[in-house]
Amino acid sequence: MKHLITGVKPTGSSIHLGNLMGAVLPFGRLAEGNDAAIFIADLHALTSVKNGDLLRKQTHEVALNYLAAYGADTDIAIFRQSDVALIPKLNWILASVTPYSLMLRAHSFKDAEGKGAEINMATFTYPILMAADILAYDIDVVPVGKDQIQHLEMARDIARAFNKAYGQDVFKEPSAHVEKSVETLPGTDGRKMSKSYDNFLGVFDDEKTLKKKIGQIVTGSEGLDDPKPLDNNVYALAKVFATPERLSEMRGKFERGTGYGYGHAKADLLEILLDSLAPIRERYSALKDDSAFVEEKLRAGARKMNARIEAKMEVVSKLVGA
Ligand code: AMP
Repeated sequence: MKHLITGVKPTGSSIHLGNLMGAVLPFGRLAEGNDAAIFIADLHALTSVKNGDLLRKQTHEVALNYLAAYGADTDIAIFRQSDVALIPKLNWILASVTPYSLMLRAHSFKDAEGKGAEINMATFTYPILMAADILAYDIDVVPVGKDQIQHLEMARDIARAFNKAYGQDVFKEPSAHVEKSVETLPGTDGRKMSKSYDNFLGVFDDEKTLKKKIGQIVTGSEGLDDPKPLDNNVYALAKVFATPERLSEMRGKFERGTGYGYGHAKADLLEILLDSLAPIRERYSALKDDSAFVEEKLRAGARKMNARIEAKMEVVSKLVGA
């Protein structure tokens, strides 16, 4: 059994289909038979979100999304980063062994700088807080997107720097898990589905919104009765969500063409999505009105992780003398 953790920043709206298929469900599969946790990185979000009510709301929404995806009785510990009070202490201890030159190499603040965003000190030292979030709980494996590989490497460097400074193997070096099998889902304009392109289909969008967004999917100019190439954007999404029978039916209709236009295909796609997402959408609706339950799940997650970090910090505090 391995210890896994992943973090998610509560900086935006609900998850979209790309997040679900590319990150949320793969983590759920990885978690099976292992000890897994997800922290909602509200402290990390402070670098950009400057509205407490909004941050609280978004944090709750992330928890709701994950509970809907995994089921209310999931074994995955879902918790708020800020509910683990020892994280900032560990962050400081780790900052005290982290070379300035290491932070200067981080892509994250250079990217933010490139985009003209505000660079505050937390943006700059972000990888140290991320290291604390991982090293605190003796994590073995962290699933990461390609953009996070460097940060995980830094967490390993920081673990080594601490262990060297104090002459003891206190922190375990986590390994990265890069999900290879996942395809990139296209958005309505054919580019990668992404919040920043505003081309996404939200997992919890209401039916009317989904219908409208599916209507906007960019397609070819083949006529109603022409055969249609299978590399079209409607099929690309149907492929991921349809049952094999339903998909082969759609494939047949596209290949024949006759009387099957993109409008028909879009209506089919809406049905396919609603069917495939029904269980998760139903769980979402049920939990949406039960914020007390969601909050209790977050507290339970925090209790488990606090116990872990308290045990770790006993060793750390003894060594560092603070
Ligand atoms: P983001 O919030 O855009 O950083 O997305 C979080 C994670 O969701 C990424 O690390 C990917 O694993 C996954 N993801 C996002 N967009 C897509 C997409 N269009 N197709 C597949 N996976 C995606």
